[in-house]
Amino acid sequence: MKPSTFEYGCPPTLDDAIGLLGKNSDSALIAGGQSLVPLLNLRLAPFDYIVDIGRIAELRETRDLGDRVFVGAGLTHAMFEDGIAPDPGNGLMRKAAGNIAYRAVRCHGTIGGSVAMADPAADWPAVLLALGALAICRGPQGERRVAMDELLVGTYETSLRPGEIIAGFEIFKLPASARTSYVKFNKKVGAFATSLAVVVHDVANVTTRVVIAGAGPRASLLHATAAALATGAGTDACIARELDALMPEPDAYSCHLHQTTLGRAIGEVSGA
Ligand SMILES: Cc1cc2nc3c(=O)[nH]c(=O)nc-3n(C[C@H](O)[C@H](O)[C@H](O)COP(=O)(O)OP(=O)(O)OC[C@H]3O[C@@H](n4cnc5c(N)ncnc54)[C@H](O)[C@@H]3O)c2cc1C
Repeated sequence: MKPSTFEYGCPPTLDDAIGLLGKNSDSALIAGGQSLVPLLNLRLAPFDYIVDIGRIAELRETRDLGDRVFVGAGLTHAMFEDGIAPDPGNGLMRKAAGNIAYRAVRCHGTIGGSVAMADPAADWPAVLLALGALAICRGPQGERRVAMDELLVGTYETSLRPGEIIAGFEIFKLPASARTSYVKFNKKVGAFATSLAVVVHDVANVTTRVVIAGAGPRASLLHATAAALATGAGTDACIARELDALMPEPDAYSCHLHQTTLGRAIGEVSGA
């Protein structure tokens, strides 16, 4: 299939892109195009105007902010995989990036596009949630810093406001004492996760986050499981309870799968 006709703009700056979005009511952004182009080709998401943000240098910037690092939304998965983009997650981001799709997709797909798309089984939303990242969103009303837990709303749904663009993410630098794990189960190499568990466990700074993706409409923090892990208590009962609350129609196979990925991820950080 070919897309229906649309106008195309390729603005040089983020402000120009925001201006173009504002001028065209039926417009969409395109970054790496790995999710949007198939939707356009299948005419599932026809737009009159496409704003290409792929050449905006600002979106590929990285900045050291002391305790945090800013990574631009336009950095590709491959840039993280190759170590060109910084990894304040002590290797977690690099590992996740290398497990997204296959190399051709990773060379084009961007971290911002992945989060904006909000696929419930995507890798970046889960990893950034586990890292306690903030999304920097720029729009006609200025800039907002939005916690990942507030940005992710549901299946393919975020709390981005009309005309807003994700400029990048601020990610706190994990101390050397922090341990991380990323356990992805997919049915074939290059596919989205059937179950993805990500854990950040920093005993020294009392920070523990446990995330599951693929179980509900969005990647979710398992607060009770994280609290149990932080205090050294058993996590199995909490996992079962929290999965039950997340999954609309829990079936034995999916429950077992998510319990297994979570169990492995927790085992990796706790040395069990
Ligand atoms: C075969 C295949 C396998 C895949 N497997 C995986 C996988 O295992 N794990 C995984 O996580 N992903 C996977 N993906 C998705 C891939 O990671 C995409 O790159 C990603 O979802 C979208 O990024 P993009 O830059 O291509 O965005 P685009 O396709 O350009 O855009 C996607 C959406 O985000 C919006 N958008 C883009 N950038 C911004 C921004 N900065 N601010 C606001 N809105 C924005 C667009 O308007 C559009 O609605 C796969 C894709 C394919 C084709």
